[in-house]
Amino acid sequence: QVNEMMYVDKLTMVGQLAASMAHEIRNPLSTVRGFIQFLSQDTSDENLKKYSPLILEELDRTNSIITNYLKVSKPEQFQLSHLPLHEVIQDCVLLMRPLASYSNVVIDYEDTGPFYVQGDEHYLKQAIMNVVKNAIESIPEQGIVKILTHADYYQNTVEVNIEDNGRGMTSEQLQQIGLPFYTTKTKGTGLGSMVTNKIIREMEGSIEYESTVGKGTTVKIVLPLLKSE
Ligand code: ADP
Ligand code: MG
Repeated sequence: QVNEMMYVDKLTMVGQLAASMAHEIRNPLSTVRGFIQFLSQDTSDENLKKYSPLILEELDRTNSIITNYLKVSKPEQFQLSHLPLHEVIQDCVLLMRPLASYSNVVIDYEDTGPFYVQGDEHYLKQAIMNVVKNAIESIPEQGIVKILTHADYYQNTVEVNIEDNGRGMTSEQLQQIGLPFYTTKTKGTGLGSMVTNKIIREMEGSIEYESTVGKGTTVKIVLPLLKSE
């Protein structure tokens, strides 16, 4: 398959580039950050006072882009444990709230747990937050992101639905989501969904995207359920 080939090739490229560049860029970056922070403390320079928060913010953004690339190239070992999914989602909601309210978005999560899954807490949070972040970013003016969980005790799975009423995607866009570098955002990296898909697959789960242009998107994550503790 041509698409699969493209995926593998680009992935190798990301890995090599990221591994050789990320560390080397990071060190001078944190030095610069340190000096800016130092210089902007007790300064009488109005311009420095005014613009240093902006400089620091952009440096942090650069750093987080590099971190994302590193995650792709050098994934750390999964630390498997029994995770309370409902609490993991609750944490994600808390962490995404500032971005949501800044974007006039309400995150609506009704905790219907407890549900336990086997996974790595840090990675699972990252996966869910990537999806929630996309949902928030898809909403142009104001809207709602709904998170629903639902267990299937016959299949022994739990489904997490993350639903937004944002701009939605065309079927062409839907096909490309998850490919490295695929982004329609000016400040996007096109890595979030790829990392999410990878994490969910490693947890032996599945992820599906359904979308209608102008109406919104639903991301369906299905994970194997553990017996409640
Ligand atoms: P990024 O967020 O950096 O663009 P992602 O891999 O997270 O990278 O997403 C890739 C693209 O998929 C986005 O740029 C966007 O076009 C599309 N997308 C993902 N989630 C949604 C969503 N909930 N609604 C609309 N489009 C989405
Ligand atoms: Mg994203």
